[in-house]
Amino acid sequence: MWSGTELWNFGGKLGMSNMADATIPTESFEIKRCSVCDESKPLSAYGLLYGKPRARCRACQADDARKWRKANPQKAREQKRRAHARDPQKKVAAVRAWRLANPEKYKAQGRRAYEKDPEGFVTRVTAWREANPARARKAEQARRRRRKAHYAALTREYQATKQRATPTWADRAAMCSIYEDAARLTAATGIPHEVDHIVPLTSGVVSGLHWEGNLRVVTRTVNRSKHNRLIEGLFHSIP
Ligand SMILES: [Zn+2]
Repeated sequence: MWSGTELWNFGGKLGMSNMADATIPTESFEIKRCSVCDESKPLSAYGLLYGKPRARCRACQADDARKWRKANPQKAREQKRRAHARDPQKKVAAVRAWRLANPEKYKAQGRRAYEKDPEGFVTRVTAWREANPARARKAEQARRRRRKAHYAALTREYQATKQRATPTWADRAAMCSIYEDAARLTAATGIPHEVDHIVPLTSGVVSGLHWEGNLRVVTRTVNRSKHNRLIEGLFHSIP
């Protein structure tokens, strides 16, 4: 089986001396000279054509394809479009597999896209969520499951903050009835309502208190979009 082949030396780790090593599959030693770069590479470095290894290695083949695409952008686009029409799921599956295999790179890619154009990014994400409500809900649920411990910690932290921010003179009965209002409105309208702190308990600039005068009922959408951002006008109106 060594006739007509050369020994492939894996980065100098393998030599003639350990040829007899039974744990190394003998196929990996089969090598072939590329007709383009003239380098000797193992057979796994070649694509197949009618069941036989091609004359040029994958790297050279990809190189040629890249050059061709650069020289023929119009045709390349058309080719890509046709390939997509033939099998729309193929690219989607490939992208998904790449993301799963490269989670850090995928995250960095997202961060770069956001930093390049934060507003455009948010607009695109919002538009996608509106166009795909079922998928958006599923993604959000999966994220919450994945980050369960993280969210539990946030909730605990928030409860502690609320406790710290509650003054002794707060009217607990009045506060309770505001929370009941929110629950009642949710049940009556089917739209989730929440109790919001007019001045957030933690905003980085000022800290609101957890008392009836700082509470109001809003829809969840309003509450979540406001998040912990301080209402500018309110802050500037404080003497
Ligand atoms: Zn080559």
